Amino acid sequence: MHYKKLLFVSTPVGPLGGGTGGGVELTLYNCVKALQKRGYFIDVVAPLGSKLEGVSLHQIPGELEKSIQEQSPADPITVYNNSVLSNMWQYVREIEQDYDLIVNFSFDWLPLYLTPFLKKNVAHLISMGSLSNVINTAIEKVLKHFPYTVAVHGKIQAKTFSFCDQLLCLGNGLDIDQYQFCAQPQDYLAWVGRISPEKGLEDAVAAAQLSNIPLRIFGLMQNRDYFDRICASYPNAPIEYGGFLSTAQLQDQLKFARVLLMTPHWVEAFGNVAIEAMACGVPVIAYRRGGPTEIVQDGKTGYLVEPDDISAIVSAISRIDKIDRWLCREQAQLFYSLDSLGQRLESWFNKI
Ligand code: UDP
Repeated sequence: MHYKKLLFVSTPVGPLGGGTGGGVELTLYNCVKALQKRGYFIDVVAPLGSKLEGVSLHQIPGELEKSIQEQSPADPITVYNNSVLSNMWQYVREIEQDYDLIVNFSFDWLPLYLTPFLKKNVAHLISMGSLSNVINTAIEKVLKHFPYTVAVHGKIQAKTFSFCDQLLCLGNGLDIDQYQFCAQPQDYLAWVGRISPEKGLEDAVAAAQLSNIPLRIFGLMQNRDYFDRICASYPNAPIEYGGFLSTAQLQDQLKFARVLLMTPHWVEAFGNVAIEAMACGVPVIAYRRGGPTEIVQDGKTGYLVEPDDISAIVSAISRIDKIDRWLCREQAQLFYSLDSLGQRLESWFNKI
């Protein structure tokens, strides 16, 4: 093993455990668990208020970053007074000598820019598709001087960047033991994610109304106005909002769903919720767009439908009983186990 002591640096959009970081929060936790199993020692730097079981956390105060999804590609980078991002990376500089490798989980310009100024190597796990020209240029510069140091989750995400052939595809993984298999679903559909326009909740609500099957929605209420607009547009849709749940609570609700609907309007980098559903034996109906396209096997673990085509979702729901729920669980175990994630992470680090 080349590197032994790792310093993970979390996203500055919110404390770990709060949900603002979206899939990055679970990804970071699963990477910690996958590498701890292989004998690595890991500390995590994260915004103040973070919670992460069984992990040594360095909590940093400061102003949280705004989510990049709200910005346009040509927008400049904004620096907030007392920014938690700059505080976190200043702290990294102070303690970097105690670690062998730094792993960046944020989608931000600053850690990329700082890479040549730090003494230790930095591995960057990029968790979004191309969204910002400034960040794209910064990634390209890092790759020029430090090849193999930038990874993404999937090929479709990689292709959103002009330098895609230089990006390493890491996939993702989860702790399958945290998810219970459920062979007999109840009569409801599920939608899981941050409630924010790019996630396309309104399409799932429309499909639920047309199918007349209840839809249970779980996730952080990031944009209340957006949710209220959906409720006003579909006053008779059979929907129920179940709040933002811990992983244990979430899987306990998700496992009874007939299907998970994934209706993103943006190029989802990966889509953790797809593999979480599959781990419970829940098939997935997703738009053929972004990460879920690489996860869902059409006709085997769910259905991939034409993006933005609500009638195609409704038709796929009517065929969902043809999907073998046990196969969904098996495929999650086969491709997304913690062990395979740990192996992929290790071979990435060994290339650096
Ligand atoms: N999630 C959660 N509780 C909920 C709903 C969602 O912990 O009630 C988590 C879920 O486990 C997943 C994340 O929110 O890890 C959503 O990540 P995903 O990759 O699907 O989308 P992103 O938010 O990154 O766009």
